[in-house]
Amino acid sequence: MSRLVIIANRLPVTITKREGRLSLHPSTGGLATGLGSFYREKKGLWLGWPGMPSQNLRGLEREVTSRLEALDCRPVFLTRHQVENFYYGFSNKTLWPLFHYFVQYTTFDDRLWEAYKRANQHYCQAALEVATEDDTIWIHDYQLLLLPGMLREKLPKASIGFFLHIPFPSFEIFRLLPWREEIMEGLMGADLIGFHTYDYVRHFLSSARRLLGYDHSMGLITTRERMVKVDTFPIGIDFLRFFRAGELPEVKSEIQRMKRRIGDRTVILSVDRLDYTKGIIQRLKAYDLFLEKNPQYRERVTLVMVAVPSRTKVDRYMELKREVDEQIGRINGRYGTLGWSPILYLYRSLPFTTLTALYNMAQVALITPLRDGMNLVAKEYVASKRDNLGVLILSEMAGAAREMGEALIVNPFNLKEVADALKAAIEMGEEEQRGRNLRMKERLRRYDVKRWAGEFMEKLASVREIQERMEAKKLRGIALRRLLDAYKSSRRAILFLDYDGTLVPFSDRPDKARPDGELRELLRHLAGIPNNRVVLVSGRSREVLQEWFEGLPVDMVAEHGVWLKEQGSPWELIGPLKQDWKEDIRPIMEVYVDRTPGALIEEKEFSLVWHYRRSDPELGYQRARELKDALLNITENLNLSILEGNKVIEVKPSNVNKGMAATRWLSQGAWDFIMAAGDDWTDEDLFDAMPQEAYSIKVGFSVSKARFNMDSPLLIQGLLREMIKAKREERG
Ligand code: UDP
Repeated sequence: MSRLVIIANRLPVTITKREGRLSLHPSTGGLATGLGSFYREKKGLWLGWPGMPSQNLRGLEREVTSRLEALDCRPVFLTRHQVENFYYGFSNKTLWPLFHYFVQYTTFDDRLWEAYKRANQHYCQAALEVATEDDTIWIHDYQLLLLPGMLREKLPKASIGFFLHIPFPSFEIFRLLPWREEIMEGLMGADLIGFHTYDYVRHFLSSARRLLGYDHSMGLITTRERMVKVDTFPIGIDFLRFFRAGELPEVKSEIQRMKRRIGDRTVILSVDRLDYTKGIIQRLKAYDLFLEKNPQYRERVTLVMVAVPSRTKVDRYMELKREVDEQIGRINGRYGTLGWSPILYLYRSLPFTTLTALYNMAQVALITPLRDGMNLVAKEYVASKRDNLGVLILSEMAGAAREMGEALIVNPFNLKEVADALKAAIEMGEEEQRGRNLRMKERLRRYDVKRWAGEFMEKLASVREIQERMEAKKLRGIALRRLLDAYKSSRRAILFLDYDGTLVPFSDRPDKARPDGELRELLRHLAGIPNNRVVLVSGRSREVLQEWFEGLPVDMVAEHGVWLKEQGSPWELIGPLKQDWKEDIRPIMEVYVDRTPGALIEEKEFSLVWHYRRSDPELGYQRARELKDALLNITENLNLSILEGNKVIEVKPSNVNKGMAATRWLSQGAWDFIMAAGDDWTDEDLFDAMPQEAYSIKVGFSVSKARFNMDSPLLIQGLLREMIKAKREERG
């Protein structure tokens, strides 16, 4: 039976050891609290590190394992060396800073990369001990970017989802990683890859196109073997837990206690891990500016700054800690009075009661990360406001800003803007506060963490359905046997074969795809079988086809159906066609050649083709969209159609296509075996023209009218060889 297996760097519980005795505590952070209940409800398993190097656990592994088992958790033990190089190392000194756009803090070190690979292998081994191909495996976050690919290799049929909880940076940043291709390949092992915002999706798709050459349609990438969906799932919070917290007696008394300490001053709250991505230094500077510009608010506000210790062993974090301490000391020294400190600094992790008490009593939340995948604190603050009073100031660089447009959105580097937002927040009328919070709160209530996890799971299941449908269309096994039998016993057979992408793979120059001796021999044999017709149906010009297939007993269709040639006869035009339209179209295409390095125009007798295979893939794709738009307007009146093929845009008379060309042969009647193979969407007309019983085969995995799919030209060539063999056997 299918089971949910969650794999994350950390387990939802952390182990500590005091005087030789073990104790377990819930891990902090949104993932642990959010998914913690979800996987148990689903009766799933959670795999991850219990938070202590194995050297410290010597002799206690068994006990750890059995205590975790009761919570449906499986430990992945990491040595001190692994913690150092994989966790603090590559994960937090390379991926974390780079993905948050802190290039200057990023370490590029092969040894750390090796440790990262080995640690991902280690998680893979641990997963293989519990997971099977029937399971749904959900992998989380930047520590395990290679794991989807590793698991896919071992469990090809498993359902694998991946979610990244931090930003996926723009290609210009991601490309700096020396190991970028391996990381992309690793991720592509998943069936569904989720991100918090559409920006991260865009960045990822752009890297997939540029680094791996994968195009996509609405976020669906077709790799050589499978389909991979990339989509947005903004993580939610456990809404009711925060919404109800203010009613708890212990939270109420905590609020009273704090009020006694702070008095009736306006509380501005900031909560984050002490991390350079959180913009703490800039925030302090903005607060300083606010106090300087607004002396009327001195002694009337208190900034409660909660900084949770984090990665304290990494140098950069130690430095940051020193800087923050200094800044706070400076501001408190400059403005403080005997009865008032401008900043109340709490350098520790707060329990839920204290944290939610602060959320409740703070009139303003100042959340200004320089870059943040989502930021849950912003959501928790708004969810906690039962009376809808309070103002959220939120950085536009946080993923949460995409959903929380009613907050005061600021650029954290613009100190003046942040200082002004503070003033505006303090002075905002209650009606306006209620209006803003109410709208945000309703969204948080609806799209909570359960819904987030549920939607991810549903999407994963739907990707699997698409894959299974495609899988069922693969021409192999019984279907392949049937085709071969039908062919073997046929008396009059006809085969329509597209050339580029079907008989041979694409190459970067259209003239380089010339058939080699082996392919020519194959076609000679195939077409030489008595009562067998082979029609090459191509988009190429008749001159090229003529030159390449000279002397072979094949029929040909050139320029997507403009020219037809039966063996031994001259080329024939399919009907009367015009070419005067070219004078209108060529100049437009030329503009797009000039604007797109690497693009070129190919002129055929009755069509014009704009190629962009050798251009920068992103730019080429973009220009292709623009060119198509520009062409659409004029082609309508000229009776022309625009074909979008594989890295080409082709304009040709609209009364011509491969399907119409094929009917000339089909109408010659009495074929008892018909096959058509093609790869791009100009071949869809061909498939469309085929009678129902025909064997139509699409090369590649996108959606098609063809009855069957095959992976690659190599397999098509293999099929043709099998067919020749079958006929030989028949004829004895
Ligand atoms: N948090 C906590 N104790 C604290 C401060 C924060 O448990 O003293 C929790 C907070 O409730 C939130 C998480 O830590 O769920 C921080 O998540 P966020 O997305 O804001 O930042 P991250 O630390 O993941 O970068």
